[in-house]
Amino acid sequence: MQTGKASGVLYLCATPIGNLEDITLRVLKVLREVDLVAAEDTRHTRKLFSHYGIHTALTSYYEHNRQAKGGYILEQLAGGKSVALVSDAGTPGISDPGEELVMAALEKGIQVTPLPGPSALLAALTVSGLSLSRFVFEGFLPIQNKERRQRLAKLVWEPRTIVLYESPHRLSKTLGELIDTLGDRRACAARELTKLHEDVRRGTLVQLQELFGNQSPRGEFVLVIEGCSIKGEQAHSLDSSLTLSPEEYVRLLQEEGVPPSKAIKIVARLRNIPRRELYKEISRST
Ligand code: SAM
Repeated sequence: MQTGKASGVLYLCATPIGNLEDITLRVLKVLREVDLVAAEDTRHTRKLFSHYGIHTALTSYYEHNRQAKGGYILEQLAGGKSVALVSDAGTPGISDPGEELVMAALEKGIQVTPLPGPSALLAALTVSGLSLSRFVFEGFLPIQNKERRQRLAKLVWEPRTIVLYESPHRLSKTLGELIDTLGDRRACAARELTKLHEDVRRGTLVQLQELFGNQSPRGEFVLVIEGCSIKGEQAHSLDSSLTLSPEEYVRLLQEEGVPPSKAIKIVARLRNIPRRELYKEISRST
């Protein structure tokens, strides 16, 4: 694909998150015309290629080879070749490899062009029935318990709609942790979007937990959660939960629907204070 420039262009191509028809005409054209397609999983992308009769050269670019392969792709671009980057599903760079390659390409003065299209994030958000005016994307929560707790604690007073990616085997655990930390709130679990068994459940976190129980339901999930509804002066004073005393923190969690014993458990853990002491302090002040 001749670009008429010294270096080639890096095209960021969004591909389907399920339904193979969710692909733009421009992505198909670029995938046919570029010199090289860098794919997260070449076997996966071959299926897309065979569906659309595309025969462009493929190379892999994934989490564990991105250092070495990134260098090779940049060399190709610097040598005037055009490269399309695709992930297994959706938009490259969104919880998928791509971010580093884009940064490195820009540093070298290589042109980067987006070819927008599907992303599970926007598909789930728009169908959730929750406020779309402001939202925050948290990607996947950390796997380590301590880091998960810290990340969730930061979301307690988040007023924007929250979007999380989650794998089915952690769904039940995550719903439990969300209830413990944020209290019960409106939420949506969007599963297998655009696929045959697409399933969108709306309710509260507790209702979703009851629905999915302790099983690992099949498929891929996006969780969309209502932001904190405490507004005005109260929200201002809560901007940082760290400015609250442990007792105030417990009271506010209770106002958000968290049962008293759970609220105490959460604050004791987050503030690293013995639960018994916090109980004593609270019963003294009430
Ligand atoms: N880059 C992709 C995008 O733009 O959406 C996201 C890739 S990330 C590795 C994969 C996660 O996206 C899954 O664990 C799931 O949370 C979500 N996801 C992908 N496809 C989905 C689908 N069809 N339905 C619901 N969630 C999906």
